[in-house]
Amino acid sequence: MKISIVGTGYVGLVSGTCFADVGITVTCVDIDEKKIENLKKGVIPIYEPGLETMVHSNIEKGRLFFSTSLKDSLEQADVIFIAVGTPPDEDGSADLKYVLEVARQIGKHINHYMVIVTKSTVPIGTAKKVKAAITDEIEKRGIEVDFDVASNPEFLKEGNAIQDFLKPDRIVVGTESEKAQKMMNRLYKPFLLNGHPIIFMDIPSAEMTKYAANSMLATKISFMNDMANLCEIVGADITSVRKGIGSDARIGNKFIYAGAGYGGSCFPKDVKAVIKTADLNGYKLRLLEAVEEVNNHQKHVLVSKIKEQFGTNLNNMIFALWGLSFKPKTDDMREAPALVVIEELIKLGAKVKAYDPVAMEEAKRILGDKIEYGADPYDVLIDADALIVITEWSEFRIPNFKVIEKLLKNKVIFDGRNIYEPAEVLENGFSYYSIGRAAMH
Ligand code: NAD
Repeated sequence: MKISIVGTGYVGLVSGTCFADVGITVTCVDIDEKKIENLKKGVIPIYEPGLETMVHSNIEKGRLFFSTSLKDSLEQADVIFIAVGTPPDEDGSADLKYVLEVARQIGKHINHYMVIVTKSTVPIGTAKKVKAAITDEIEKRGIEVDFDVASNPEFLKEGNAIQDFLKPDRIVVGTESEKAQKMMNRLYKPFLLNGHPIIFMDIPSAEMTKYAANSMLATKISFMNDMANLCEIVGADITSVRKGIGSDARIGNKFIYAGAGYGGSCFPKDVKAVIKTADLNGYKLRLLEAVEEVNNHQKHVLVSKIKEQFGTNLNNMIFALWGLSFKPKTDDMREAPALVVIEELIKLGAKVKAYDPVAMEEAKRILGDKIEYGADPYDVLIDADALIVITEWSEFRIPNFKVIEKLLKNKVIFDGRNIYEPAEVLENGFSYYSIGRAAMH
């Protein structure tokens, strides 16, 4: 089988590489010439564990190709995936301009039957728009070409993307023809071994499934953050509460950690987009509006604690920040809580020195010299007034508190991810602020 993936970002590059790895011939297409030029040389544009080795090995085996020409990539393709970005429009709805542009390009060049699959996260009804855009272009050419559209939302998590793709909890596919269903089943067969299921459904349900999944996950996080804030007020400990509720099988112990708010390229934009879809259809998603509000508030909670300790004038103070990416094992900083904390600290007159194991290049691209960067976690502590932990990278989990104590001007730690045992931090003489647990001095 031959496939093309249009859009070589986190999703397109990981999907394309994993399909190639199971023996399918894949062309990854992107309009970013520099990106494609680099990929042809084996230079990977993102940090994703295991990806680089897999890209290299599949290029060498002659199964993974990169191109800027959508037209060429259509030549012998059986299936085309659209995996371009769907960023939020000004009103919060998903901006479909990239998806529909790809659809028009496909319509301009398609010359044999293929299945055109939306893998990008797109609002309900997008497959119909994709179909209409392709049909329009085919009609303009005065020819007839048969094709099918399908929806195949992607559930991979950055940081664990390869494992998620190779061993998926489930694959969701929305189709409207038996022929397309058969092709999608064949394509995904290598990933279905060991009981990984493929779930076929109608296209609107597949499109909705992705939004419902991300909305549910965002809801879990905001729920726990809201509970955490109440725990602090009433003298309870969210870590104990989490263990207490997580042992109920109906609730489960995954994804119920309180923290400094969710970020990333998906949850914030997908929650916004589904609220907008409801709005456009005359329905109010009250719960998700609250989820978003709680999250916006949560991104400021650490700075409130900093003000509680140091007051509102932070002039000439320096804060050491551990972590910049929105979560560990990725360099993605889109909507990262660190960005909100940095912006607020700078507004209050402070300076920020940050360290992140992989996201510093990305941070430099976004923030430039607004902040300083350190060579390692301890380097940023030199002359800093306090430490703020914002991303729970494993290398921050068992730090040398004695060294921290020596380097910091004030013995204060603000832990936005609850990664430390309060007793240990206190034993080392620090004041300790975390989420959903009383401040300890
Ligand atoms: P990304 O921004 O990393 O990559 C998108 C790529 O598409 C870019 O390289 C861009 O140059 C390219 N592109 C734009 N227009 C193009 C065109 N006309 N032709 C060819 N290439 C074009 O985006 P991403 O994070 O991979 O997300 C892609 C989609 O997948 C989004 O809808 C997102 O919501 C969804 N998704 C993302 C994740 C994730 O973890 N990142 C997970 C699941 C689903």
